[in-house]
Amino acid sequence: MSAEKVHETYKCELWHDPKEEVPNADNFILQKVVTQDGCVHISVAVCQECIDYLQGGEWLLLYCVNCGSSAWRIKELSHYSGEYENNIVWCPHCPHCGGIN
Ligand SMILES: [Zn+2]
Ligand SMILES: [Zn+2]
Repeated sequence: MSAEKVHETYKCELWHDPKEEVPNADNFILQKVVTQDGCVHISVAVCQECIDYLQGGEWLLLYCVNCGSSAWRIKELSHYSGEYENNIVWCPHCPHCGGIN
């Protein structure tokens, strides 16, 4: 019997203050993205804190499916008029990877 832990630890992949340590993720959020060749599932590891923000209704998460960067916006101030589910906007591009969102 080995005492070694085989569990992989995931860090939260969403934006956190760079001065703070990124918490471990307990959950995943999933998105089905349709590309030219078919469907791609994107799974993002998220911590409980981020889940709370997403469910709180005050914040909107912008997540770039192209480069994986993310940003939080206050929903009331974001002026985002497109459709989104669960307070997540899946952007095809973002300012980090050169696209416009
Ligand atoms: Zn998080
Ligand atoms: Zn991007």
